[in-house]
Amino acid sequence: MKSTLIDFNQFKMITHTKLKGDTLNIEICKNYEVTIPLDRVLNYPYSLEDGKLLIEGEIPEYRLHSLKAGILNLISLSISQGMRSKITGRTTYYISEPVPLLGHTAFGLIDRGTNIIQVRGLCGCNINCPFCSVDEGRYSKTRKNDYYVDMDHLLKWYLKVVEVKGNRHLEAHLDGQGEPTLYHPLPDLVQQLHEINSKGEGIVTIQTNGVSLTYKLIDELEEAGLHRINLSINALDERMSRALAGSRSYDINRILEIAEYIKNTKIHLLIAPLLLPGINDQEFKKVIDYAVELERRNPQNIINPITGRKDPILGVQLCQVYQFGRRMKNMKVWNFKKFYKLLREYELEYRKKGIDVQLITPLSKAFGSHRRKRVPIPFKVNSKVKAKVILDGRIKGEVIGCARDRLIQIINVEDPERWIGKEVKVKILSTRDGIFVGRLSH
Ligand code: SF4
Repeated sequence: MKSTLIDFNQFKMITHTKLKGDTLNIEICKNYEVTIPLDRVLNYPYSLEDGKLLIEGEIPEYRLHSLKAGILNLISLSISQGMRSKITGRTTYYISEPVPLLGHTAFGLIDRGTNIIQVRGLCGCNINCPFCSVDEGRYSKTRKNDYYVDMDHLLKWYLKVVEVKGNRHLEAHLDGQGEPTLYHPLPDLVQQLHEINSKGEGIVTIQTNGVSLTYKLIDELEEAGLHRINLSINALDERMSRALAGSRSYDINRILEIAEYIKNTKIHLLIAPLLLPGINDQEFKKVIDYAVELERRNPQNIINPITGRKDPILGVQLCQVYQFGRRMKNMKVWNFKKFYKLLREYELEYRKKGIDVQLITPLSKAFGSHRRKRVPIPFKVNSKVKAKVILDGRIKGEVIGCARDRLIQIINVEDPERWIGKEVKVKILSTRDGIFVGRLSH
């Protein structure tokens, strides 16, 4: 006779369980795990079958109840102390009530005062581009922690932002310091955001490196109402594309198959190549040619309700150098004047062939981006505020504080761990775009 102690299938966030000796490995939201030493809390013989933790023999109900509560407490403590990301290997904090979701760039929401709300459900990336502006991926030298935001919590804060901005022609754009398609459950998140935004003729869009996209996931995202996928492709050549992804397993041919597949759905495909001057100049042009040809061969006619037009097929970008980003040794730094000159030459080249390709289009025209009321900024630069340090930071020497329902990235902190849980005084250094950076003020 066996008694069911815990049925893990009942918990949405638990996506897999495995028993390894006396240790229970619990997979949280696909990409994270915590380990529970069962032998320390269970002195009955136990087994794991079909996601159910069973113990041998008949046990009184009250005893079962208290054992279950003990194990669930242990799991929730392990999650709050930090899960391990299977993607990056870093400690990942599960963000839920009462942590605010405005103020930091690593997770939550960013309102830059337009109709676009950036939605960041997680950080952490499955590849390691050598030019990454946020130094992401498993081999990052600067990122020490990742964050995953509980979906209900994310949606609650999204609604708060929508209330201020007005639900009219909004774009929820899933992006982040990492790969947004790693969010689980992504289709559910897209569907809920779509339900909110479609009431005001708005849309949901996502940017991705394409590595974790599958036909099944694309079908689910289509069903959920996703409007556009911005797919990064920086080279067509197999060797160069692998080098630019910093990953031996990156397979450009698979990404191109995925691109073709998206073209046959109701999701608009935008291809977003990045020019790294001196590195991928020729490949950059080849990607543009590929996108133009793909659109000619397999045109989509999906209208963006914000603009009343089709979105562009291309969103070209120029690689910039960032303080905490990676930089390729041989990359030349270009200004935008030079970049636009090159793009104009390309546009002209296509025009001579009778093809109209827009490579330089203001965001307002291309995507209907426009100024919109922003959520209040409760701090002034140089002011001092009392904050509670709630989390270890994203990078070394940083902690995350909370004040007036906003997050503050507190930088240049020595011995960060000792500040967690403490009340501190913070001098605000920057409030740009509703992202708050400060330093301890003693
Ligand atoms: S896909 Fe984006 S986030 Fe990931 S490593 Fe490359 S540039 Fe960085």
